[in-house]
Amino acid sequence: RLTFSSPLFSDITLFASAQVPFDAAATRELRQMLELQNTLQRWQQVLPDSTREQMALLKVVLTPDFHKARGIPVGTVLQTRDVLLPQAIGNDIGCGMRLHTTSLTAEQVLGQQKELVPIFRRMFFEAGRNIPMNRLQREALLREGLLGLLEATPSSLQAGLWQEVQDQNLLQDIEHTERLGSLPASSTPGLEDFLGSDTLTRDGQVGSLGGGNHFVEIQRVARILDPQRAHQWNLRENQVVVMVHSGSVSVGHSSASVIREEVSSLYPACLGKPANGIFPVPFSEAHVQQTAQIWDALHNAANFATANRMMLALMVQKVFRQQGLETDFPLLYDAPHNMIWQEDQTILHRKGATPARGWMDLQHTPFAGTGEPVLVPGSMGSSSFVLAGLGLQDALNSASHGAGRVLSRGQAMQQPEGRLSELLDQQRIVTPLDLVRARPDIAREKRRELLQEAPQAYKNIQAIMDTLQGAQMALVVAELEPLITIKG
Ligand code: 5GP
Ligand code: MN
Ligand code: MN
Repeated sequence: RLTFSSPLFSDITLFASAQVPFDAAATRELRQMLELQNTLQRWQQVLPDSTREQMALLKVVLTPDFHKARGIPVGTVLQTRDVLLPQAIGNDIGCGMRLHTTSLTAEQVLGQQKELVPIFRRMFFEAGRNIPMNRLQREALLREGLLGLLEATPSSLQAGLWQEVQDQNLLQDIEHTERLGSLPASSTPGLEDFLGSDTLTRDGQVGSLGGGNHFVEIQRVARILDPQRAHQWNLRENQVVVMVHSGSVSVGHSSASVIREEVSSLYPACLGKPANGIFPVPFSEAHVQQTAQIWDALHNAANFATANRMMLALMVQKVFRQQGLETDFPLLYDAPHNMIWQEDQTILHRKGATPARGWMDLQHTPFAGTGEPVLVPGSMGSSSFVLAGLGLQDALNSASHGAGRVLSRGQAMQQPEGRLSELLDQQRIVTPLDLVRARPDIAREKRRELLQEAPQAYKNIQAIMDTLQGAQMALVVAELEPLITIKG
């Protein structure tokens, strides 16, 4: 842990180890971000009201998976006071991780691997597979999240339309969702197209995996490292679990463009455009309406993203069931890693960083005795991990959200294609290739795109674990290995 403090800058704490390469290229973005402090100081001179005195970038935390991205690096946590940085969390608002446990053993899934892959392919990639909803449900979802969606869906409809949802104890799952997956929004700016018509349609995007490194992964618990928490979280060795990584797809893009317009319209031209394109929004009486609109857009997208992950997971349960793999499917946890939290006077922005609160901060939740579950995927060719948050204040109650890249997408694509097959074979990850072989329509393109996601494009996940645990950010509970990976 390295902490830099200076009267000119906010406190910066960097969590890294000699085993994890530090992305020096990202330091330029970091510097641009710190220049924000100057912008805020100059803006304070022109604001009419008194809150302006308070405006500040208080603290910056860099998690061990820190790497270059657009605007602000991935793996950055920003704590501000009286100023909001809506664009600091990137375009995929609400992107996050979800993990369900099952009562299946790895052998049960491996026994049917060949049959399961093409079924998943149809489920996740064929058009028209999305979850049907009407306008009422879509609006309730955007404004009130999962609780709103449930309320707008009578149980007869739940059973009839969402066969995926049948028998699942959704209320219990919602309790295991960060902020209940239900963030308040009083409007739905920019989302008229998504809301659509009153009739039930499947074109609402709910149940879309999205592209890039979004994935649904069937995994097995390879190792238990904290038996007590593992027991409390229903994790056992050799058990099958289901991890989902996805975001707000086109809904988030619409919300992000509403936000982009709002923030740039508030910005005084005399200050000169911020170099990283991240426009600050001071908490000022003059901006109340616009700020409310921005929070609504953020919450709409995050509510959608959580529901989307829920549906993707329930689609897996449906496939299991169709294949005679009857199982319980309780949610362990779902949390976003691109999101903003308001905490009293301070605002916490996490971009590619996951909340890792300790049990003290989780008094009235199912995690009061354990700390917050922290889901850290590695890559499609390495282990992923479940940890428990330790609530480290110096890390702003945060942890890594993944391994993080060592090769940019472009660099990874320059690897010879044969190398990918070799790697995947070595790692015994046959399924992503099976997947592209089974789709001749996209095979060439996607096969090369998979190179972007090859294991060597990511940092060593074990070193990330050592750093998280060594710094007391989180404690490792279980190691997971992939059985089937479905990439977006
Ligand atoms: P991001 O949210 O920044 O797009 O990515 C999150 C993390 O997911 C990456 O840093 C990487 O460690 C992990 N990841 C990417 N692809 C896969 C995959 O196919 N399987 C697993 N288990 N993890 C992945
Ligand atoms: Mn994403
Ligand atoms: Mn993500």
